Amino acid sequence: MSAAFINATYILSAALFIFGLKQLSSPATAVRGNLISAVAMFIAVLVTLLSREILEYQWIVAAMVVGGIVGAVAAQKVEMTGMPEMVALFNGSGGIASLFVGWAALYNTGNTTFTIITVLLSVLIGGMTFSGSIIAWGKLSEVMTSSAIVFGAQRIVNAALLAVLVICGVLFAMDPSLTSPYFYAVIVLSLIFGVMAVIPVGGADMPVVISLLNSYSGLAAAAAGFAINNIILIVAGSLVGAAGIILTNIMCKAMNRSLANVLFSGFGAVKTATKVEGEVKPIVADDAYLILEAAASVTFVPGYGMAVAQAQHVVRELGELLEANGAEVTYAIHPVAGRMPGHMNVLLAEANVPYDQLVEMDDINPRISNVDVAVVIGANDVVNPAAREDENSPIYGMPIINVDQARTVFVLKRSMASGFSGVDNPLFFGENTRMLFGDAKESLSSVVAEFKN
Ligand code: NDP
Repeated sequence: MSAAFINATYILSAALFIFGLKQLSSPATAVRGNLISAVAMFIAVLVTLLSREILEYQWIVAAMVVGGIVGAVAAQKVEMTGMPEMVALFNGSGGIASLFVGWAALYNTGNTTFTIITVLLSVLIGGMTFSGSIIAWGKLSEVMTSSAIVFGAQRIVNAALLAVLVICGVLFAMDPSLTSPYFYAVIVLSLIFGVMAVIPVGGADMPVVISLLNSYSGLAAAAAGFAINNIILIVAGSLVGAAGIILTNIMCKAMNRSLANVLFSGFGAVKTATKVEGEVKPIVADDAYLILEAAASVTFVPGYGMAVAQAQHVVRELGELLEANGAEVTYAIHPVAGRMPGHMNVLLAEANVPYDQLVEMDDINPRISNVDVAVVIGANDVVNPAAREDENSPIYGMPIINVDQARTVFVLKRSMASGFSGVDNPLFFGENTRMLFGDAKESLSSVVAEFKN
């Protein structure tokens, strides 16, 4: 295969990656964008395999079959609520793959200092992405506590760890060989550093970490691309790295926090929110129906609980009934609602909610006081007024959807339990709040049934 042909197909793949990414920016074209990027990846892998004078294909084919089956089965089986955990595992897989590619590059003869540095970077970034993603997976799936884990002198320990890592890296670069103990020390320390970097990030800040790890997985791949001198790996890794960092920035803005603050403040563990007390006013579906029936404007505010209950279809059905009844219906989307960026958009798109009814937080808040009923469906942190009012609250400063300023608020959830950040919510005790307890899908189905009667 000529070099010109290989480069031409790499350019084609790179162009398709960029085109695919662009298409991902709108729900209407996202599925196509995904497919285009997958085709680009297929072309890149195929051409790379055919161009590398590979002598024996059996291991590669076996790995592709096993990986393909595991990926396909996992993607088919995963529940919508499990998607964020799956994304965390994907990031981790990207990281560990880059670590191995960098490691394998050491077997090449004639490595330059530049190659050795890129090997170190792919091992360092890949290793910390892998272990950090496993911790992120643990926090998201609540296998471990989602709150920040902090201890005294944590920053000093982390700084010392990083310093030892750099020293081992330099010592290895000065005398690179596969038997160098410094190389294995870099691997182990990178894995520990990934764990140490993610454990102090708590509750509400996880969206930032997930997108940052996504960016790191791209950077690790780009470094591995340099290590084995593969252009398309450098391009694909850079695209993921850049897209991830842009998303991280968007997430930071959504949380109203700087990246440094998220990573180093051990947020969530230090502060204790003011205890919330008051009287809760429950409501039953029949009465909720009567209020909704009389409403001229209704805003649904979905959150993680809508994903758990899989209530998106019945929400759309209720939205249509309300519209037919003459109400103006909107869906207010908080940028970090749910457990992954765009989580609510994906669910509502799946249920065919018209895009033009989706409104962003910044657009709904100025006019929320004119909304007759705000229906909070399994959202908690993203509508918690403590973020606006309680300086002692761990989520203080995070912008929220100000549902408490609507004329009436219905909160659909099963209990008084707190959300992902573990913080109490004064909204539940508000004068204009009515709690509709129960599974969101069942509660909404009861209201829909009332409408249909
Ligand atoms: P929250 O996690 O704050 O609250 C979800 C609520 O849903 C819970 O209080 C729960 O209450 C309720 N719920 C669960 N199951 C059901 C059900 N079947 N029916 C009805 N209600 C149910 O979700 P939000 O969307 O408000 O906030 C997202 C949080 O997750 C933020 O803290 C955000 O920072 C964090 N996060 C977001 C990520 C992202 O990228 N979007 C990534 C990682 C974390 P109950 O148990 O009483 O029913």
